[in-house]
Amino acid sequence: MGESARPEAAQDPSRPLAGDPVAELRAEKQRLETLVRKQALDFKTLLEMANAINERSLDPRGIESYLSYICHAVRGQFGVTRAHVVRETPEGEGRRYQLVDRGRLSFECDAGSPFVLALTRASGAMPLTHPDLTQLPESAKLRALELETVAPLLRFQDGKPELKGILAVGRRLVRAPFAPEDLQMFGLLGSILAISLHNAELHRRAIVDGLTQVYSRGHFDLALDAEIARVERYGTHHRDEDRKVSLVMMDIDHFKKINDAHGHQVGDAVLRAVAHATKLTVRKSDLVARYGGEEFALIAPETNKEEGIRMAERLRARILDSKVEGPGGKPIAVTASFGVATFPGDAADLRGLVAAADRALYQAKERGRNQVVAAPTREHA
Ligand code: GH3
Ligand code: MG
Ligand code: MG
Repeated sequence: MGESARPEAAQDPSRPLAGDPVAELRAEKQRLETLVRKQALDFKTLLEMANAINERSLDPRGIESYLSYICHAVRGQFGVTRAHVVRETPEGEGRRYQLVDRGRLSFECDAGSPFVLALTRASGAMPLTHPDLTQLPESAKLRALELETVAPLLRFQDGKPELKGILAVGRRLVRAPFAPEDLQMFGLLGSILAISLHNAELHRRAIVDGLTQVYSRGHFDLALDAEIARVERYGTHHRDEDRKVSLVMMDIDHFKKINDAHGHQVGDAVLRAVAHATKLTVRKSDLVARYGGEEFALIAPETNKEEGIRMAERLRARILDSKVEGPGGKPIAVTASFGVATFPGDAADLRGLVAAADRALYQAKERGRNQVVAAPTREHA
């Protein structure tokens, strides 16, 4: 993304003397040409930004990571001290808009507030000193955070505007206020971001399991396929330090009894707690998925068999320790069984790897549950 050009016609030292019509026409022609060139450049920059925004919107690290990239790019593009996205909270009662900065909630406003209404009706970006905004308490709060200009993230659904969020930026480093054409470009960027953010949210909903907030089965299949392809591609070039991927299959023990004894809602709470504990136990680069009802799968890239077994052991201990609160505050004991298999040592392909981890899991159940069993290597299978 490049800096956008500025028209310099106003201070042009070659400006003709008044009264020379030919020179004046020539100067006017030059001014218009500069303007057209700048507009073409702005358009190109905007297209580049739109492309970059869309490309990043499916960032596997999630929407937070995508938005922090956007803020970084906006700071560079517009030369501003800071950039933040105030986001709409998830659907449900009491919908709000929040700005979370480094884990801290630093700004919040109501969906029905005059501030949100003004931005929903706005035709583009504007400074917080704009007559429609300046009197509102939210503008003062944002200014206290050293934010000066806002662009509504507006998306249109059946012709009705929907405010997905607010892009807010600080002072310009050049100390000059936003020129009208910059403000226009900033506003257009807000619209592009709104569409892209909406798509990112739809995508997220499609690949994440609604109950447990870990990845869904479909995404697991794709991710494991990609990981195996990566190992196959680079594995042979790293003979000393062979590339590997471990797969852990995990199944909650006697889950049916938990459901039968306490009801499905408590069963659901147990599933959520187990998923949460799993996410906290594994590395950031590992992928946790809900494979089926009360079965979870874990993909651990660059992890050999021993490390995979250790990871499963850690997880087993953590689940054993995590007492889920049942009705009346009584803790419910939860345990799980695990099967570990590693590619390429234990299987030749994706189907083989899943089958090997599944067989190991079945053995863990047979041997008494609440334990980890590793698949035999291919030579020994
Ligand atoms: P095992 O130790 O052999 O794994 O016994 P189990 O009872 O866990 O295994 P089984 O496969 O017989 O039962 C799994 C149960 O999980 C049955 C099903 O009702 C329950 N289940 C599946 N999905 C959900 C869900 O989304 N919510 C709740 N509450 N229960 C679910
Ligand atoms: Mg099961
Ligand atoms: Mg089970």
